[in-house]
Amino acid sequence: MQPIQDIFPLLSQPKKVVITTHQKPDGDAMGSSLAMYHFLNQFGHQVTVISPTNWATFLNWMPGTKMVLDFEAPNDKANNAIAEADWIFCLDFNTLSRTKRMEEKLMAAKGQRILIDHHREPQTHAFTYGISDTGKSSTCEMVYDFIMNSGNEDKITPEIAECLYAGVMTDTGSFRFPSTTASVHKMVANLKEKGLEHSHIHEELFDNFLENRFRFIGNVLLNRMEIFYEYNAALIAIPQADLIKYDMRTGDTEGIVNYPLSIKGIKLAAVIIDRGEERKSSFRSKGGFDVNTFARKYFNGGGHFNAAGGFNKEPLEEVVAKFKQALKENVNELSTYQF
Ligand code: 5GP
Ligand code: MN
Repeated sequence: MQPIQDIFPLLSQPKKVVITTHQKPDGDAMGSSLAMYHFLNQFGHQVTVISPTNWATFLNWMPGTKMVLDFEAPNDKANNAIAEADWIFCLDFNTLSRTKRMEEKLMAAKGQRILIDHHREPQTHAFTYGISDTGKSSTCEMVYDFIMNSGNEDKITPEIAECLYAGVMTDTGSFRFPSTTASVHKMVANLKEKGLEHSHIHEELFDNFLENRFRFIGNVLLNRMEIFYEYNAALIAIPQADLIKYDMRTGDTEGIVNYPLSIKGIKLAAVIIDRGEERKSSFRSKGGFDVNTFARKYFNGGGHFNAAGGFNKEPLEEVVAKFKQALKENVNELSTYQF
């Protein structure tokens, strides 16, 4: 993988560009993709943004979401754009399998793949150019650095500022995680000076849910949460029937893993959801417990030190049993935690 700055001199030559991200994109995935879209458009590139799957409706306020293609939607536009692209930007993921059914198309594409990402253990051989930095708060911060370092600060429009802010704010848990460095605050200050209006972004992302989501959360906290005090751990296991009963849509379960993590003494929180085709898991930790390794070892996943995810094909009960067994195997690290 050649350093990302090697493409700076090539930015001025118009190209066919695809920008893509991980399945079920979150604020950082969609924000970084759209910020890059608005940036590259200013050079006369022909840019197509493709999401491997659908996304939460609370992201639809972001400038540009209307033209994002859903790879799972039945038409050939996305396939053609991938096949014809000179450059394929891969943002906020680092192994092609995170794009699910798009993976084989990305592998077969003739275009050069370019990585910008902050997750652990990147598949570097799959990318011609790129940057992987686990010290960065978000991919949006890295896209900001990309724009600044390429000498194009003047191209940061209010639309780009909004997209970048949405990603950095959501990936830092509203600026509370340790990844919130001085550079993050400097970036936000600079975006504010360029006209960013941040308040409405918080409202769009966090004050836009329907009543049923809160009934659902009430149900899972009352009936689906188990606390393992001897391991300083908590698990919420959600059967598919709950998702159907409360009419849960993409994005509605985001953030639920944070509820048990705010219980005094809890160091590791997990949510395992039966999504029908697979059992999707989310892990969060506080302090020294590495959920990236935990998710990789037991749940075919990965992510960051304190936030990771994975998936399993076994039935929910088996995945829950696997989690409990994993707690036992990690008892030394989990039980000796000092608060
Ligand atoms: P979340 O729990 O919010 O879905 O994901 C937490 C973090 O782990 C995110 O940075 C996400 O990209 C990563 N992640 C989630 N699921 C998977 C997975 O199945 N595989 C890998 N490698 N990373 C994941
Ligand atoms: Mn991210």
